[in-house]
Amino acid sequence: MRYVSTRGQTPPQSFEDVLLAGLAPDGGLFLPEMWPQLSAAEIASFANKPYAEAAFDILSRFTGDAFSKADLRADIEAAYATFETSDIAPLSEIAPNTYLLELFHGPTLAFKDVALQILGRLFARALAKRGGKATVVAATSGDTGSAAIAALGGLPNIEVFVMHPKGRVSEVQRRQMTTAPFANVHNIALEGSFDDAQAIVKSLFADEAFSKQTSLTAVNSINFARIAAQAVYYFTSTAKLGTAPTFVVPTGNFGDIFAAEAAQRMGLKTGKLVIATNQNDILFRTLESGVYASGEAHPTLSPSMDIQVASNFERALFEASNRDAGWIREAMAGFAKSRSLTLPPAVLSALRTRYSAHRSDDAATLEAIARIHRETGRLIDPHTAVAASAAPKSDGPVVILSTAHPAKFPDAVERATGKKPPLPPRLAGLYEGEERLDTLPNQLAIVRDYIVNRRPG
Ligand SMILES: *Cc1c(COP(=O)(O)O)cnc(C)c1O
Repeated sequence: MRYVSTRGQTPPQSFEDVLLAGLAPDGGLFLPEMWPQLSAAEIASFANKPYAEAAFDILSRFTGDAFSKADLRADIEAAYATFETSDIAPLSEIAPNTYLLELFHGPTLAFKDVALQILGRLFARALAKRGGKATVVAATSGDTGSAAIAALGGLPNIEVFVMHPKGRVSEVQRRQMTTAPFANVHNIALEGSFDDAQAIVKSLFADEAFSKQTSLTAVNSINFARIAAQAVYYFTSTAKLGTAPTFVVPTGNFGDIFAAEAAQRMGLKTGKLVIATNQNDILFRTLESGVYASGEAHPTLSPSMDIQVASNFERALFEASNRDAGWIREAMAGFAKSRSLTLPPAVLSALRTRYSAHRSDDAATLEAIARIHRETGRLIDPHTAVAASAAPKSDGPVVILSTAHPAKFPDAVERATGKKPPLPPRLAGLYEGEERLDTLPNQLAIVRDYIVNRRPG
């Protein structure tokens, strides 16, 4: 299995290269040259298999000969042994034909663990094989940071830099990152938005000298290995239901919902994929108007989705244009200049066939938390609530992705219901630990120097 870049100017790469590089050198995102195909019978068989087995079946089609089967299996099993439930992605019915797909039972209580617990282990293995050191730089809107730290903290030969937008993540999210006791982890509070942090990461990658010098790599959802690992729960949940569901996905960087497109392209039959956004509604506007235009990021109650420029949308555009890398190059260069991109009618219509979109403001988010609590007694987190409020009426099953544990966002949950979700035992001690972080201005050169100065050897 080889991987190509959405911008078409990187020679095909192996899985190992893609894993360790993150972003393609031409600025594009990697995708498999051809999507592996699963038969209906293979997909149906996931209904009765342990989750780790399904994950192995699917991931082994992407990893090629990068790892032995035994090593890959061992890494997946160890990754999921860190989860609190034996079913890694349980479905629970909250109303007739409406389900929550619970993805928050990992060490940091958000769905990012599902992929990053595997990624960290594969990373360590690939680095040990290749030799040398790697520098991971992650921009986080809140949850990728702690999940990356939980996956990579304390590993040899990896230095981890996590940049979050200062003051724009919840206190629980911040403390999960800053109280982690690992010498190889550096937290940066950037005086800017998530989009600013993501732009700095992209500029660091574009700086070839820096990128080579530091063996720079990314664990954001621009890393294809994350998409592959996230595709798994679309297969397992559909197999369990036995009929094609509509998936409603709380969306920021478009990684999670693109994993659903990946699953479809591998043979999974589903209903519509519903993009659920908060007030940062660039994707909702794009599907409505055909113009992808970024505005200012607004802080909301669902901070992990306070994103205006959705990196993974480039993957969807590449596919929707029948893999027209020349057009993607032009389109992305134009967007970088004018912050706006008008989609050709054929691309827009391909996107609308697969996706629909819904936007919920904070009031609708709080309403959804309150309603679900009233109707079911359950507390849901504000990201899940954005999806719950976008769930369409449907004759078939509707699956709402529940991406975080409510205890990560206690203030919003309490505002909506009057109930404060208790801190799970895993997070005990969160408020006692000493915080380690540095505040940096939103300036590329300063962030760059900070990283250079903190890299050992
Ligand atoms: C990251 C995140 C999202 C958004 O996922 P994308 O892949 O960025 O679209 C939604 N909910 C939670 C809780 C998250 O942490």
